[in-house]
Amino acid sequence: MIFGVLTVLTQIGGLVFLIYKPVGLYIKKRFKKAYMRTPIKILTFSVIYLVATTMVVPIFAIPFDRVPMPMFSSEGIPIKPRTILTCLTNRHYVKLELRTEIFRIAQSFSKKHPKAEILYLDANFPFLNGFPLLPHLSHDDGEKLDLSFFYKDPKTDESINSSPSWIGYGSFEEPKKGETNQPGVCQKRGFWQYDITKYLTFQRGKPALEFDESKTADLIKSCSSSSSIKKIFIEPHLKSRLGLGGYDKVRYHGCHAVRHDDHIHIQL
Ligand SMILES: [Zn+2]
Repeated sequence: MIFGVLTVLTQIGGLVFLIYKPVGLYIKKRFKKAYMRTPIKILTFSVIYLVATTMVVPIFAIPFDRVPMPMFSSEGIPIKPRTILTCLTNRHYVKLELRTEIFRIAQSFSKKHPKAEILYLDANFPFLNGFPLLPHLSHDDGEKLDLSFFYKDPKTDESINSSPSWIGYGSFEEPKKGETNQPGVCQKRGFWQYDITKYLTFQRGKPALEFDESKTADLIKSCSSSSSIKKIFIEPHLKSRLGLGGYDKVRYHGCHAVRHDDHIHIQL
C-alpha cells in the first residue's frame, strides 16, 4: 500500500521505498523500542527520498526530455512554484522547449510588471509518457503546465504573489450573472468531478486577495503569442471577461476535465 500511494503521489517514492526497505529492516533490528525506531525510520527514508528527488532524478530525467522547473524565483527568471511541495513530489517536470518558453515569457512579463512573479502549479512527472499525474488527465508527457492566476490587494491594488488556496487550485472565479455558466452545464450533465478541486483544498485567503484580471489576461496573451505554446485552457466566462475573444489558442477543455476558472493550463 505504501509503495502504491508513494508511486501515485510522487512517481519515484515507491521505488525509493523499496531501496530504503533493507535499511528499514536493519533499523528495526537495531532499535527495539518503537518510540526510538519510528522517528529514525522516517528520518532515514526522508533523507534518501530528498537526495533522490533533488540530485538523482533531474539527471535521469534528461533522456526522457524532462527538466525541472525552478524551486525558487530569481531576479533573472521570476517564476516559482505556488508550493514547494510541487517540487518535493516531482510534479514540476516539463520538456526543455516548454521551460525555455515559459522562462522567456516570465522575463518579458517582469519588465512590464516588475513586482509580479509567475506562480506555476502542477506540471508533469519526470519519467515515462502516459504515466498519469492525478487528478490531471493530460499532464503525462512533459508538454503541460498549469499557472496560477494573479491576485492583488483589494485595498491598495498592489500585486500579491500568492493565491487564495494553498496549492493554487480550487478557488473559483465563478461566472457572474449574464456570463456563460459552463460549470453549471457540466454539473447538470452529471460530470461530478468538474469542481472536485474545491474539496481538495483549503482556502483562507479569498477575502484578502482579489482576482487581478488585467495581469492574468496579460499573461495569457503572452503565452498565446508564443509559437511553441499551442493550447491554453480557461473557462469560457473568463475568456470573455478578460477580453480574449480573438485569441484562438484559448479554448474550452470539455466537461470531462476539471474546471479552469481557478488556474490557466498551457501546453505545447
Ligand atoms: Zn493542466
